[in-house]
Amino acid sequence: MSEFEPVIGLEIHLQLNSRAKLFCRAENRFTDQPNVNVDFYTFGLPGVLPVLNREPVEKAVTLALALACQINEISTFDRKHYFYPDLPKGYQITQFYRPFAVLGVFSFPLNGRIKQVPIKSIQLEEDAGKSIHDKYLNKSLVDLNRAGIPLVEVVTDPCFKSSEEAAEFVKFFRNLAKYLNISEANLEQGSLRCDVNVSIRPRDSLVLGTRVEIKNLNSFKFLTQAINYEIARQIKEVREGRDVLRETRGFNPETGTTYSLRRKEELSDYRYMPDPDLPPLRLSSAFVDGLREKLPILPTQTFLNLTQNWAVSPDDAIIVSYDRRYTTLLNHLISRGVAPKVAVNFLVNDIQGLIKERGLESSDLPFPVEKLTNLLLHYQNNKISSRSVKNLLERLLRDPTLDIEHTISSENLLIASSEEKVHSIVDEVLKSFPDVVKEILSEEDKTKTHVKKKIGFLTGQVLAKSSNIDPKIARKSVEMKLGIKSE
Ligand code: ADP
Ligand code: MG
Repeated sequence: MSEFEPVIGLEIHLQLNSRAKLFCRAENRFTDQPNVNVDFYTFGLPGVLPVLNREPVEKAVTLALALACQINEISTFDRKHYFYPDLPKGYQITQFYRPFAVLGVFSFPLNGRIKQVPIKSIQLEEDAGKSIHDKYLNKSLVDLNRAGIPLVEVVTDPCFKSSEEAAEFVKFFRNLAKYLNISEANLEQGSLRCDVNVSIRPRDSLVLGTRVEIKNLNSFKFLTQAINYEIARQIKEVREGRDVLRETRGFNPETGTTYSLRRKEELSDYRYMPDPDLPPLRLSSAFVDGLREKLPILPTQTFLNLTQNWAVSPDDAIIVSYDRRYTTLLNHLISRGVAPKVAVNFLVNDIQGLIKERGLESSDLPFPVEKLTNLLLHYQNNKISSRSVKNLLERLLRDPTLDIEHTISSENLLIASSEEKVHSIVDEVLKSFPDVVKEILSEEDKTKTHVKKKIGFLTGQVLAKSSNIDPKIARKSVEMKLGIKSE
């Protein structure tokens, strides 16, 4: 193990999916056509003043509440100056002196535990436009569609110990943003953007090392590569007797390396000042409480409930907890009496493929959700086998009008409750596999794996003879006939 340990902190920019931009009425909508979502404000024409819209503030506060932040009743908007063609006003409006939310925490499952990431602050700000340099030789273009779109900047503590931890955080954070329906949260399209801060320190040290900031990593792969490269580079610098310089670096995806953009001494002077055009933002407790009441049950809460109270495996719980399409279905099924574990198994094994393959919302499943509920309740009450559930589901996909109750009775799918019928099938099977029976009987220790496998094989044979035998009853009967006590 290296004598150094890395420390990583993240700054995440998230575009909010409000209908209008932050301070004007221009549309906030993704399009390939340049300069169509613009107005006088977006162009920064003199005398046009910003007017704060309510919707982006609601979305920003919703996120802050989901991250258990302290919401500041009064926050301010400040000007951050820089001169780029894609920022016609010459400054970006952000929250520098007093952001609207501070001191939160985001918890997510990581390697079998819950990782808690302290959030330092969330600020509300506007996005800049885009300069396009690679379309024409010797000519640059400006697209102002993005200028003025609401952003939140979420700043974490330096609390990650590896690129994997940082990447997992971003994944779960993205899922949360989508879950709350506040953002498309797409790294590749730029609605979620990530700057990472990386430093190293001797393993036993308590003070932080000098950090380097890497800008704009637009995929999980690049994020991971950039961090790993930077850790290795800094360790090499220190081993060879040089200092790590406080600087901002970019990432080159072609080479997988980072390169210096600017040094600390060249760091821009933004000349921050309170924006005289905007009053302080006042978030009344009534406004905040109203949003708090609308907050859904958060994904990590669902995850913990499923894993701790319902013995659902962490992998399955992650699949169904962090995606609104599954939690909507899950809640529906559970509220109608389906056991959480049964519902989760079914969603993961049978419905997941369908939702993924067709990009479905749970509300547009190709058949009424009540039929799903019925199927699962019958299964849970030991009325039909899991095989019948699958079979009926497949048929429902082809024919959404399929009458479940009628099919179950007309095709005789009710699990044979009469034990006699099961026993007689078991007798038949035992007769047709005398060698297997002999091998089981000759083994002293009936708990050995090979014995269990053979019992499983015989049970399978029994089930194959009829579609409506409860597997548990079949197994019990096989064991009983072989004189084995069930566990
Ligand atoms: P500043 O006030 O200089 O902007 P912040 O404390 O706001 O710095 O931190 C900015 C980002 O850098 C945060 O994501 C934080 O986690 C991260 N960070 C700060 N110090 C370090 C460090 N020594 N190593 C790694 N990341 C750091
Ligand atoms: Mg900062």
